[in-house]
Amino acid sequence: MSQLKYCQGPKCHTYDTKDRKKGPKDNKRNETRRRSSFYYLNNNACSMQCQADWFDVYGSRALDHFGRITQPKVLTQENAWRKSYDWRSQADGGYRHYVYNYLTDERIPLTEEQYNNDDTIITDGRLTTREFYTPTI
Ligand SMILES: [Zn+2]
Repeated sequence: MSQLKYCQGPKCHTYDTKDRKKGPKDNKRNETRRRSSFYYLNNNACSMQCQADWFDVYGSRALDHFGRITQPKVLTQENAWRKSYDWRSQADGGYRHYVYNYLTDERIPLTEEQYNNDDTIITDGRLTTREFYTPTI
């Protein structure tokens, strides 16, 4: 049985909808939504509005807490490889799989098995699999 939890939007209770209304006629109030699951804020907010409200209040503090990017992250030729495929590019309707380097435009063909294997990686510009790849510590 799933647990009910509250929407984490700090202003959720201020949006006037029927499902937020609680209490008897003489003591009506609106409450924060409570559900077993949510679609927003990684399953923590009931709507895009509540997600945006959360970020407006807590976003900067979250960045300060977890650490801001203070230097540019860099995509180099060594880490610019991505798996991709050409849809229905083969005569039999199959896909042509490959790894592609976004900086050098280099392509290395892959078999479908290599494409689906999460351990297939490019290291030092060569195709390999993690099981054969022993990182130096
Ligand atoms: Zn909400």
